[in-house]
Amino acid sequence: MIETRPELKNISDYVPGKSIEEICEQYGLKSAVKLASNENPLGPSPKAQKAFCEMASQLHLYPRGNAPHLISAIAKKFGVNTNQIVLGNGSDEIIDMVGKAFLQPGDECIGIRTTFSVYSATADLYGAKFISVAAGEERPALDLYLQALTPKTRAIFICNPNNPTGFYYSEKELLDFLQKVPQNVLVFLDEAYSEFATAPDYPKLISKLAEFPNLLLNRTFSKIYGLAGLRIGYAFSSPEIIAAIWKVKPPFDVNLPAQAAATAALSDENHIQQSIALTVSGAQFLTENFAKLGFSVLPTQANFICVHIGENCKQLTEFLERNGMIVRYLKSFGLPESIRVTIGKPEENQLLIDLVQKWKEECQLAK
Ligand SMILES: *Cc1c(COP(=O)(O)O)cnc(C)c1O
Repeated sequence: MIETRPELKNISDYVPGKSIEEICEQYGLKSAVKLASNENPLGPSPKAQKAFCEMASQLHLYPRGNAPHLISAIAKKFGVNTNQIVLGNGSDEIIDMVGKAFLQPGDECIGIRTTFSVYSATADLYGAKFISVAAGEERPALDLYLQALTPKTRAIFICNPNNPTGFYYSEKELLDFLQKVPQNVLVFLDEAYSEFATAPDYPKLISKLAEFPNLLLNRTFSKIYGLAGLRIGYAFSSPEIIAAIWKVKPPFDVNLPAQAAATAALSDENHIQQSIALTVSGAQFLTENFAKLGFSVLPTQANFICVHIGENCKQLTEFLERNGMIVRYLKSFGLPESIRVTIGKPEENQLLIDLVQKWKEECQLAK
């Protein structure tokens, strides 16, 4: 038997949301609705689909590793220099590349338990210790992160808005926090859902990058741009951090159709606005209707809601799956009594509410 690196011994497999195919096979269904992985219910922008298809005849060619067209389109859209941008095969790969470039055994990273699990998994993979300063539904004070700083701290991971709870930190809170973090500690701010945030005080930190060279803003084409299946993400930071990440980046990780589709998606303002509008109205609908059924929903700035179901939460998720509705059971996030629901199309949201109501009635009959 070949020995793995010792770091691998403690690493468990990532638990993704269940797929439509899986559920249809398992329960013998013809179709299912998936509100489990925060995908865009509108699908990819028609412009992105067209750009993707146009690449079909060129698939024998290697992509350009430095993706000049996409990088300039991102730079132009967000008003940053091209040397402040890096791409990845999904923003998951950006997290991994940060690990590769900056973490080593003995280092410490700070984060929380009830968030995207890739941060702690990446710390584990590179032998760094992941220090969790909070767990549960509540929004932790940023001071908790500061109190956990030690000379060994290399990175702080904050998801804003947070997956799966939906809370956010305001611009003022984060600027105040960033002032207090030592410059040799990377602040990895995951903004995968930033485009959905409508709160007026939700941070716009791109203009502050020059002030905080240790700040990295992680973004993705998987959520609002509806390109999760293509695997493409991007990040903004100082030229120093970006250069370090390019050094560890596999040369052809961002594929040719992904580059083309992402470039087209960036400019489809109509699709973006439609996606935001659908999310905002859907979140309101779901929150009100879950409340009517007696379940509390956390306030959200993202394209999902976190619903507290109670001790028979697992039973509900199984009932929903049997009926062709996939939501995310949050046990693996440390919330065994809650589910995360991606805001879907109006008819999908309605179907979910109808099913939850039916389940509730069946539970009461059984008593
Ligand atoms: C979905 C998500 C991402 C995006 O991952 P990709 O690899 O870009 O698909 C990143 N961070 C968080 C918190 C997410 O929920």
